[in-house]
Amino acid sequence: MNEKLNELKYLMGEVDDLSKAASILSWDQQANMPPGGAAARASQLGTLSRLAHEKFTDERVGRLLYELSKETRDLAYEDDTASLIRVLKRDYEKATRLPSTFVAELAEASGLGTTSWAQARAANNWDGFSDHLKRMIELKQREAEYLGYHDKMYDALLDTYEPDMKTRQVSEMFDTVRRELVPLVRAISEHADRVDDSVVHRPYEHARQWDLAQEALRAIGYDFERGRMDQVPHPFCTTFSNRDVRVTNRVLPNFFNSAFFGALHEGGHALYELGSPDRFERTGLAGGTSLSVHESQSRMWENLVGRSRAFWEFFFPKFAAKFPEHAADMDAEKMYRAVSKVQPSYIRVEADEVTYSLHVMLRFEAENMLVENKLSVNDLPAWWDEAMSSYLGVTPPDVAHGALQDVHWSLGYYGYFPTYSLGTFFSAQLFDKAREQLGDLDEQFARGEFAPLRAWLTENIYQHARKYTLNEIATRVTGEPLQTRSYIAYLKKKYSEIYGL
Ligand code: ZN
Repeated sequence: MNEKLNELKYLMGEVDDLSKAASILSWDQQANMPPGGAAARASQLGTLSRLAHEKFTDERVGRLLYELSKETRDLAYEDDTASLIRVLKRDYEKATRLPSTFVAELAEASGLGTTSWAQARAANNWDGFSDHLKRMIELKQREAEYLGYHDKMYDALLDTYEPDMKTRQVSEMFDTVRRELVPLVRAISEHADRVDDSVVHRPYEHARQWDLAQEALRAIGYDFERGRMDQVPHPFCTTFSNRDVRVTNRVLPNFFNSAFFGALHEGGHALYELGSPDRFERTGLAGGTSLSVHESQSRMWENLVGRSRAFWEFFFPKFAAKFPEHAADMDAEKMYRAVSKVQPSYIRVEADEVTYSLHVMLRFEAENMLVENKLSVNDLPAWWDEAMSSYLGVTPPDVAHGALQDVHWSLGYYGYFPTYSLGTFFSAQLFDKAREQLGDLDEQFARGEFAPLRAWLTENIYQHARKYTLNEIATRVTGEPLQTRSYIAYLKKKYSEIYGL
């Protein structure tokens, strides 16, 4: 077994080197590259990605995985080797199930789609995008057939982003959450004037925003010896190894929350990746396990920590030192309320904590109906407006702010959106457990102590890297699969208090 395992690890090391090299080129493209570099960079990225894919899907890898999975059958589920084989086998089966002609067809369609989407949105014209969307849905239906599913066609698409998660479980959770959130949003909207967030909409100098975002990252334990922050149009976090995990950020001149909470969000992703153990490096088992678990980490630091009263007790003096002109009429409590303001909007990326998941649910329902041919592309814009109005109490002024608002569909990302909410639910479930085991987290945050929470996350989440699925890790840490109870209770308690409901 050892000889085969060593061979597999050697091959995976090469695959990992190639894909990390592609990640560096991609990071550079967004953070540094002059526009003139675009064409050459596209071919460089294409070549590296193709080589990594070819190496990974090689028959020899399949043979090794098949034999090793038989030879490791008696090992415990949580054993490193058993986990490596199990996870790689799952990746391998996914990667080899789609015919390469289909992959090329999909890549071409999504390349064309993004352009047609951008033009249609700029022209506020649904018809400019609808043919492409129809084609994309047809491709996604074929993809689901290639990948296979038992119950719902959407299961196959969801599984790409959240292994083993089922549409039924998501539907049930979303139904429960929606029943609680819609009345909460309505009640808050009636008392919107009880929270004044004008302070976050004032002019904030760029350089000082950048410094303060770095200070927040340092405070939560992001290590600039093993990371850095650079400017990009659409922020993300990227990993080159567990010693080099970079965040990116965007500064808006008249909106404080963007750079500040963006840093905490990407910082949460980064802490997770930095906590991946050395022994999994270059094996394929390193890093975060799924999009939802990743999002649970980013949303925890952004919201459960960063938008807590205790955090602002600690951080307000630092804010005041950096922006004395904005702090004069503020204090920690006012700042906590301002950054927690609920304001129903048209798009998820601008959404507050309470309305956030409603945007995700709406898109999840639309995606399900579209792939099952229960909603036609032509009827989508009207359906969208109607759903927005019943969930959030707002009606988009035009299709550009409605069904055309988001790039995901044009790229072929169907099944991706639910992970934003699943991660948010999980962040609250984890946080409840952390509170139970770590004592008064608020007292610690108010003193600027985040090391105990970080150590707890290392022990319970980071150290397992990609070993477990979302439901598996939830059960290991909290004794039950993913649940929405903690999330609903958290929102109701926090926002009933803030809005005096
Ligand atoms: Zn994120």
